[in-house]
Amino acid sequence: MAPTPDETILDDDRDVLQLSADENSSLCTGCTRCCETVCVEIDAPRAPWEYDQWVWVLHHRNLEIYVEKPERWFLHIETRCEKLDHAGRCGIYETRPALCREYDPRNCERRAPLSDVSAWFRTAADLERWLAERRPSHWARLLAHREARENASAKAVPALVQIAAAAAHEPATRLPGVAARGAQPER
Ligand code: SF4
Ligand code: SF4
Repeated sequence: MAPTPDETILDDDRDVLQLSADENSSLCTGCTRCCETVCVEIDAPRAPWEYDQWVWVLHHRNLEIYVEKPERWFLHIETRCEKLDHAGRCGIYETRPALCREYDPRNCERRAPLSDVSAWFRTAADLERWLAERRPSHWARLLAHREARENASAKAVPALVQIAAAAAHEPATRLPGVAARGAQPER
């Protein structure tokens, strides 16, 4: 639940930088959510390899992706700021980054749910399901991309085996500047 601060602060039209530490604190009483996540905007994927990359990312713990309308993608990382103390206060309040100072808790997503979020992927399966349902042509291209890569790898393996086999029969003396182990220098 979002905290319920003094209503007069919510209607206040002062800039966020003019709010006092107490006023800021009252807006966030009992909540430290902002200090426990990191969100970074990423390029909206289009190519199959890009979708494949984000599916891979979503196989990792604490990484999620969400999409805001019309088409802004964000990587959401669940990670607690090391400067947040055990009492839920900023340990570097006076010298905290500008990004922290300039975030206005009056517009907090917990107080007014983000209406612009059109999709949220907590797992790779979420993204794959969404692609299959909402962007079937992109999903088909991703599947084709994976199949093509798999076929390419299957062809590459015998070729590598042949190269390795050929190299094993090559006399070591053929390597430039390197004498064969145990070979005696010519006199
Ligand atoms: S701005 Fe909102 S989400 Fe962030 S810490 Fe304050 S109350 Fe929590
Ligand atoms: S620096 Fe302070 S305000 Fe900023 S995220 Fe860390 S604990 Fe929160």
